[in-house]
Amino acid sequence: MVGIAPIKRLGQHFLRDEDAARRMVESLAVSPGDHVIEIGPGEGVLTHWLARSPAKSLTLIEIDGRLIPGLLARFGSDGRFRIVHADFLSWEFPESGGKYRVIGNLPYAVTSPILFRLFDHRIRIHDAVVMVQKEVGERLVSGPGCKAYGIPSVLFQLYCRVHLLFYVPREVFRPVPEVDSAVISVHFLDEPVVPIADEAFFKTVLKTVFGQRRKMLRNTLKPFVEDPRSLEKLDADLRRRPEELSPEALVALSEKLIRYAVR
Ligand code: SAM
Repeated sequence: MVGIAPIKRLGQHFLRDEDAARRMVESLAVSPGDHVIEIGPGEGVLTHWLARSPAKSLTLIEIDGRLIPGLLARFGSDGRFRIVHADFLSWEFPESGGKYRVIGNLPYAVTSPILFRLFDHRIRIHDAVVMVQKEVGERLVSGPGCKAYGIPSVLFQLYCRVHLLFYVPREVFRPVPEVDSAVISVHFLDEPVVPIADEAFFKTVLKTVFGQRRKMLRNTLKPFVEDPRSLEKLDADLRRRPEELSPEALVALSEKLIRYAVR
């Protein structure tokens, strides 16, 4: 297939490796009755394998109108497909219905906004198998002490089970991007792995401490209290840096801090 002229801004690097596409769809392990969303189907390399799955419905969301006729021609006669010309970042999830299973080779430029949109709609999503830049995948699974460990690692590891499934080299895309890719699976949990009393407060703590990730907690937590001496009452090792604390330890810290916080 000659294909359309790719638009860089839309992260159009089309996968040319049928085997990687098949593996990705197999990793989602679609069951009869599943409702599947594909983000950015492009020329349909993943969709080809999804069409062979027993999914009950398949919703394709593609931002580039030039690709819609091709998708309609290939999949439009299969009554399970809904082919939507839209930006996934503003597409509204249908108000009713069950949980979705999501798949997509995500456009690089908006990978993080898409991941966080999935995260924010996790109540409507069972799981996702997505291809992302290798470094992004590694960040989501990395733990304390790793350079890549940060806010996305903490939030995704508290609210999801994340696995890095396999790597995909840059050479198998058209055009060849400047980075390698990784396929990850994200299973959204009904409840975080440890209870979090005030999620908004916890996110503020994360932003504050990771904003100065090399600094000791003793310094970064000061804005949360009127009197810095009250930090001593937290019963926490204030010499530690946020990047050394596990997601669970950061929650524990936030839960203690909330008692003394100036709000
Ligand atoms: N799935 C195809 C493949 O694997 O070859 C295409 C993947 S390509 C990396 C990303 C696709 O997402 C492109 O088709 C692009 O037009 C589409 N896209 C980019 N931004 C989007 C957005 N905000 N919402 C929906 N689709 C988007």
